[in-house]
Amino acid sequence: MRILIAGAGIAGLAAALALARKGHDVRIIEQAPALEEVGAGLQLGPNAMRVLDALGIGEAVAAAGQSPAAITLRDGRSAREILKVPLGDAARRRWGAAYVTLHRADLVAILAEALEQAGPGALNLGTELATIDNRADGVAVTTASGETLTANLLIGADGVRSAVRAHLFGPETPRFTGHVAWRALVRINPADPAAPPPGVGAWLGPRRHAVTYRIRPNLVNLVAVTEQSDWREEGWNLPGDADRLCADFAGWSALAPLLARVERPLRWALFDRKPMRAWHRNRALLIGDACHPMLPFLAQGAAMGIEDGYALAELLPLEGEAIEPALSRFFALRQPRTARIQAMARSNGVDFHEGNPLATLAMRLPLGRAASARPDAVMARWDWLYGGGPLSVHSGILA
Ligand SMILES: Cc1cc2nc3c(=O)[nH]c(=O)nc-3n(C[C@H](O)[C@H](O)[C@H](O)COP(=O)(O)OP(=O)(O)OC[C@H]3O[C@@H](n4cnc5c(N)ncnc54)[C@H](O)[C@@H]3O)c2cc1C
Repeated sequence: MRILIAGAGIAGLAAALALARKGHDVRIIEQAPALEEVGAGLQLGPNAMRVLDALGIGEAVAAAGQSPAAITLRDGRSAREILKVPLGDAARRRWGAAYVTLHRADLVAILAEALEQAGPGALNLGTELATIDNRADGVAVTTASGETLTANLLIGADGVRSAVRAHLFGPETPRFTGHVAWRALVRINPADPAAPPPGVGAWLGPRRHAVTYRIRPNLVNLVAVTEQSDWREEGWNLPGDADRLCADFAGWSALAPLLARVERPLRWALFDRKPMRAWHRNRALLIGDACHPMLPFLAQGAAMGIEDGYALAELLPLEGEAIEPALSRFFALRQPRTARIQAMARSNGVDFHEGNPLATLAMRLPLGRAASARPDAVMARWDWLYGGGPLSVHSGILA
């Protein structure tokens, strides 16, 4: 089939690669003139890594990043450990792939290079989708420069402010969630005792939390989230003030040396949307943040885009007929999983920021005790997430 993808983010690139590998004629249009990812890190759970392994790029992705030994939840002020989820070899054994943390730009470059091999010339940069004519038997789009492109199927992988979504289902602005994320990459000397502990660290406190992990031995990714009632600033990704970041996390002494080293943090307003009742109409379909944007508090947004691309390539027929049943099946398979993850990411936002000391004690103490007594039981809680998806370790290729 001739397939046109709008948006070369992680979802669009993963879908393009999976579809090109199946033999489809794929063209991906991206409005940006270059594939520049914001200087930031990404966690890829084993559910995403199994898919990247199947696409033949898992090894390259793992080699570009780090494989943390555990996710550790700690109290932000006292640094006391609340809960530890083993990763590393334990994750490989249980969920069939590594848990990897890496630079977003590295993942994008690996995806783009693999796509160039599978479908040479498929990626068209500096090409903005402008209008859509979506019919029962095909789709035609025009680009901002006036070019007309036709396809059997249009995939809208154009992110949380998707133009394809607005065209299919009407305009609806994403919801400001009340969270703002400070983001920064911080160079460290790994031998420095002030460097944050290795592995993924989630530091929790009233109305705020921070996440730290290494994407290279000497480079730490920091995401530090605070709450505010509204967002009135122009744009949603702005340069921030490092002093204000330190003030927001004053008293979190284990993180203070890292925060003091941050030079040019970004401030991101976090938006999400509710789960949808449909993802396609006629010959146009949404994937990734375009249909299921989520808070980053489960580190699964990009992973869901990767899973979407792979699942779609498995389901679509090779010829133009019988597309509709495949698109319906795709929705039936993917919507419940992504909606569950959207909901859990939101509820993590509440749990991570709990301010009542009694409530936190009641919630966290039993969790921590259970985790140290039976690390396996803690891992089992995450089987549906890290073991699930299109290449489920429990129930086969398209579970
Ligand atoms: C602070 C933070 C931390 C996160 N951490 C993680 C994590 O650790 N792990 C994880 O899995 N996820 C994480 N996420 C979520 C993840 O970043 C997103 O879910 C993911 O990047 C979405 O990918 P996408 O391809 O769907 O959309 P996008 O990355 O938004 O890509 C959409 C693309 O479409 C292009 N586009 C838009 N309109 C048009 C048009 N009209 N024509 C052509 N092109 C167009 C855009 O330029 C863009 O390149 C995090 C998010 C945040 C904010």
